Formats: sequence, structure tokens, C-alpha cells
Amino acid sequence: MTRPDAAGTAPLEPSDAVARLPGVGAARAEVFARLGVRTLEDLLRLAPRRFEDRRAPCPVEALVAGAEVAVVGVVGSSRTIRARTGLAIVEATVADATGEVRARWFNQPWLGRSLVAGVRVVLFGAVTRGGPRPEMVSPSVERLPPDDAPHPSVGRLVPVHPLTTGLSAAAVRRAAWAALPAAARLDDIVPSRLLDLAPSGRLDDGPLPPLADAARDLHFPAAEPDAERARRRFAFDELLVHELLLARRRAARASTAATPFRFTPELERRIRARFPFRLTDAQERAVVALRADLGRPTPMSRLLQGDVGAGKTLVAVYACLACVANRRQAAFVAPTEVLARQHEATLRRWLEGSEVRVEALYGARRGKAREAVIERIARGEVDLVVGTHAVLSRDVAFDRLSLVVVDEQHKFGVEQRRELVGKGAAPHLLVMTATPIPRTLAMVAYGDLDVTVLDGVPPGRGPRTTWVAAPADGPRVFERVRAELRAGRQAFVVYPLVEESDKAGLRDATAGRDAWARALPAARVGLVHGRQKAAERQAVMAAFRAGGLDVLVATVVVEVGVDVPNATVLVVEHAERFGLSQLHQLRGRVGRGAGGGLCVLMDRSAGPTPARLDVLARTEDGFEIAEEDLRLRGAGDLFGTRQHGAPAFAAARLPEDLPVLLRARAVARAVLADRRGLDAPDLAALAARVRAREAAIGDVAAGG
Ligand code: ADP
Ligand code: MG
Repeated sequence: MTRPDAAGTAPLEPSDAVARLPGVGAARAEVFARLGVRTLEDLLRLAPRRFEDRRAPCPVEALVAGAEVAVVGVVGSSRTIRARTGLAIVEATVADATGEVRARWFNQPWLGRSLVAGVRVVLFGAVTRGGPRPEMVSPSVERLPPDDAPHPSVGRLVPVHPLTTGLSAAAVRRAAWAALPAAARLDDIVPSRLLDLAPSGRLDDGPLPPLADAARDLHFPAAEPDAERARRRFAFDELLVHELLLARRRAARASTAATPFRFTPELERRIRARFPFRLTDAQERAVVALRADLGRPTPMSRLLQGDVGAGKTLVAVYACLACVANRRQAAFVAPTEVLARQHEATLRRWLEGSEVRVEALYGARRGKAREAVIERIARGEVDLVVGTHAVLSRDVAFDRLSLVVVDEQHKFGVEQRRELVGKGAAPHLLVMTATPIPRTLAMVAYGDLDVTVLDGVPPGRGPRTTWVAAPADGPRVFERVRAELRAGRQAFVVYPLVEESDKAGLRDATAGRDAWARALPAARVGLVHGRQKAAERQAVMAAFRAGGLDVLVATVVVEVGVDVPNATVLVVEHAERFGLSQLHQLRGRVGRGAGGGLCVLMDRSAGPTPARLDVLARTEDGFEIAEEDLRLRGAGDLFGTRQHGAPAFAAARLPEDLPVLLRARAVARAVLADRRGLDAPDLAALAARVRAREAAIGDVAAGG
């Protein structure tokens, strides 16, 4: 291993691989890569999630129960106890000049090997008992060198970075510490003339710290505001690169040729005649936008965002029929087979007696039949192909594909769109989602798309109520469901798991089916989950849709889009296990008919009802729920961002960084409005970064 401080070795460069750092071997470098960290620069730009205040370690004699503190001391004794359950408990005493604290860790047997007598350590965590015999349970623990030399884990605000399996906070922290010497050689990718273009000229009130200082402050600040200023400095870089990428895609699309569709009053009349109802105002508005897009000789890239039940399918079919009427082929893709089959059924119903040639392709369907369909698609003998993502697989070649509709794509950000490339010469693209995503996330995930919001719901819906129930309400829940069934209605019951073995202590769908069958002996109860064979799943869904089953017990496979208007009650077991947006999606399964609907969220959490469930009882507004979800989950939560299809950032945090995002957007537009664009000589480093990001998150997708 090369030691950066060893005499004669080259100084650390920001472009060096993290494997050059002490303590980071090839294996650990691969784990770092999962965080998007390959080089020292990546690491230096990776913002900590939070800081632990370890500026002044607490003397043992001053420990008070409940306080969160750092303790520095020397291990006295340590032992590993096996509990009767097999659980390993490591117990150690740590002493400083003022006393001795006892610490205990559960199920981390390896700690026993490193906590040997005489070793100097820092503990950090909550004090569980103060007074003369103080204790801490499961504090974080790290070995320290015997001397008092500056150390990344003590005597300062200590960073806790985003983690991934196989990488401890201490490991990332030590790596960041070791990488600091490279900070002095970080290249500023944003020339100051660009910073001056930002509306306010500055990113925040104070002057921006120079890069090297920002890199240090980001990880090892003197005070939290320094870290925040540094973070925004890096967030700006990141968001600028992202905005440039989006702007380039837009520009590329504007210079790509696509087949413009012609719309005539006659064609409009024929399309509308296919629908069993009048378009709602919102659907009319969406159609106007589509007509404008599809009439242009450049590819459409539009996102249709509308809450569950808003009536997106009709808009999609409208686009497909306009495409087919223009003698081009259209593809209508859904994320699950259940949903794709539902679309197929709708299409066949609406197109009954028409000349439109519809075929379906599902992942499961291989062999001769599939071959035949694929061949007809290639020969142009199919007008409209509906199915799962199998439709977009490599072996399916279209003769003249001009429109791709992708339904219920929760995750359809810039990263996910790449699979659409290469299908036909720049087809028009319509993406539909029922997951309302907060505005800031939409800006980064869909910033290169045009967005239409389908608001309101089609007429003829009854009211829907949401009831957050406790386990004690069980009998009343059964009673409500029984009453609905007696009125000829149907019920969904959703469980987080398929089988009990999956996770101890949770109710599961398989046992749930039996429980419901026992509680409602007169009811016909079906079970559907993702581990069933596709054919079995379909048969159950079809039976439920046709009214042959009264209760459908399911896992989240019913989450998206499944439309059974006669289902009026939905029970979600272990509602506390689901995300808010997911619950909102789920409850969209009921209240689709005139009978309205009831959504029962069965909360089995041990403590008081999580506040977030009450949000659902309070509002039906999907956007409000999405914002709340993001807020409650903690802003900057990488996972939450990912869930919405927004790309992950190392320093930027949404939604808080909206002001930074707006500035980055303004600067990106200014750069591209200039004749030289990204080719300006002083933007070479920035251009390289944009290209690297483009390569990392998918090629020039979406027709760009
Ligand atoms: P989404 O896909 O947006 O969740 P759907 O397209 O499945 O919603 O539509 C939900 C329900 O509303 C369906 O039963 C559909 O037949 C019905 N629907 C759609 N548009 C209209 C309309 N204009 N008038 C009446 N009902 C409609
Ligand atoms: Mg739908």
C-alpha cells in the first residue's frame, strides 16, 4: 500500500483512485464505488449526512443519563458473554482519569477481539446510566492511537457520511481525512465569470470559500455553518453539471427529426367515438398539449402526471390512436403484467370492431407465439403493441415505431429512460406517473421533459374515507368489510409480505388469506402475490375483476393502476411498514366507482400511531402527501430521492437546495445561450464533467 506521507511517493491527486488511500484496498474501493465514489475528488465532494459533536470528550465522572457524549479512555477489561438465545454480548470497561464507564454491545462479537485491555478508544453514544457506575449501551467505538495527535474521530465535529453495507462511518471518515491533502489541488470547474452570472451573484450571503477550504470544511468543519456553506458550494457544482446535461438533452431533441402526426377534425371525431365517456376538462387539456407535441417534427418528451384514478389511460390511448391513424406503430408499456393485461383488456374493449391491429407481449410469453408476434411487428402488420417492458427488449424490432407510452413509471428519471433509445427513429415519448413528486425533485428528475398535470378525478366517484385503525379495532374492521361484501362489493387486503418466514413478527399474506377466510366464511377469498407464476396471478386477478372473488388478499403487486370499480374497501395490514406515497397509491385501488370507498390503515406499530399515517387520513392531495413524505423521511435522503427517479447527488439536497438549483439552472441557460456554449476554453473542465455524468447516468436517452 502506498502511504501518502511516505517519502518519495507522488503527492495525492484528486483524480487518484480511492484505493491509493491507506486502509482502502481494492475490495473496499469497490464498496466505495457503490456510493458513487471512485476518486479522491469524488470522496472530497461527498457531503456527510450529519455531524457528531465530539469537540469536547466528556470526563467519565461527569456522565449524565440521556446525554449524547464522546468518551475517550483506555480499555480496562473486556469479555464476551453468550446469552441463552445465542446472542453475543460484548462488555468492556473504559477508564479515563476520572472514572470508569461500562459499555455493552449486542450481536457484534468481532468487537471482543479488538477491545483488548490497554487499547485507547473513543466511545460515542447515549449514556444509559449516569452516577457512580455509569453505563453506555452500543455506543460507536473506535480505536485511537496512544498519542494525542489530531484524529478524524475525536476532538472535533465528526462527520457521518452516507453509508452502504460493508463500509462503516469510521472507515469513510478516515478515508476522507486521508484524502484531504489532495484538496489543495482540486480544480475549480466553475470559472468565476459564471458564478457572477447567477442572479444574486453569490450562492449565499457570505463569499464562497475557496475549493480547498470548502473540501476541508465539508468534512471537518470548525462549526456546522462552515460545513453548510461548503456543502452548498459543492451542491452548486453538481446541480450546474446536472442542469447543463438536461439543457443539452433538450437542445439535442430539438434538433432531432421525428414523424409529425396530422390531426383532422374527422380523425378527432373517430378517436373520441371510441371512448365510452366524455373527456374531463383535465383530459381535454392534456390532449391539447399532446396534439401540439405530436404535430411537431421533433420528438415529444412529455410526462403526464396525475393522481391514481385521474384517467391517464384515456389520454394514452388517445395518443396511440392518433399515431395509428397516421399509419405509424405505437407501443404502450406497463411495469407489471397485471397492469399490462388490464390495458390490453381496455384497449380491446374500446377498439372492438375497429381495424386497429393490437398485439400483446408479456415477459412470460416465449416460444412460437411470441416469435410470430415479433415477426408481425417487424413487418408492420401490428399497429399497437401493448405489454410489459418486454415490448422494448432487444429482439423486438418495429417497422415504423413513432410513439412509446410508458405507464405508471414511478422511477422514470433521467437514469431510467435509456432503455428507450434505439427503438425507431426518435419516437415520441409519453411517460405517465401517478406518483406525485415534489416540485424540486421533478425539476431534477424530469427537467428535460415537458410536464402535464392531470388534476381532478373523472365524474361519478363517491367519497373515500381513510381510517387509521389499531389492532384492537380488528373486529370492527372485519365487520365493515362484511357489510361491504353483503352489499355486493369487493375488498382488497394488502400485506407487506408473502410468507411468514420472510420476517419475524409481521403478518403475511399467506396466513392473512386463511385468517380472512375464517373470519368471513361466506366470502370467496383469493390470494395474489409476486412469487406466483404469472398465469396463476392473472387467473386470480381476472377472477376478482369479474366478481368471482369477494376478497383479494395481496402483496403490493396490486399497487399500481389496477382498476376494479366494484372494490370499495381496502385494508392495509402493517400500514406502518409502508411509505406514505405508497399507501396513497394503494388506496387508489378503491373509491373508483359511484359507491365511494373506505381505506383502512391497520397500524401495528408498537408505540403511538406514527404521525405520518394521520397525514393520509387528513388529505387526498397526492402532491401534499409527497412533500410530507419527503419532509418526514428527512430531506436529502438519498433513497427517497432515488425512489422518485431523481439522480443521486453527493452534496446537493432536495428540496432544501431549491435556491441553489434555480441559480444553477440560470447559469446553465446562460452558458448554452452563449455562442460557444460548453466549448468556451475556460469551460473545458466543466464540459468534461458534464460528459462524465452523461456517461454515468445513461447515454443520450429520450431522443437526445
Ligand atoms: P389512472 O390510470 O390515471 O389511475 P384510469 O385511466 O385507470 O386512471 O381511470 C380511472 C377510472 O376512471 C377508470 O375506471 C376509467 O374508466 C374512468 N374514467 C377515465 N376517464 C373518464 C371520464 N372522462 N369519464 C368517466 N370515467 C372516466
Ligand atoms: Mg393507470
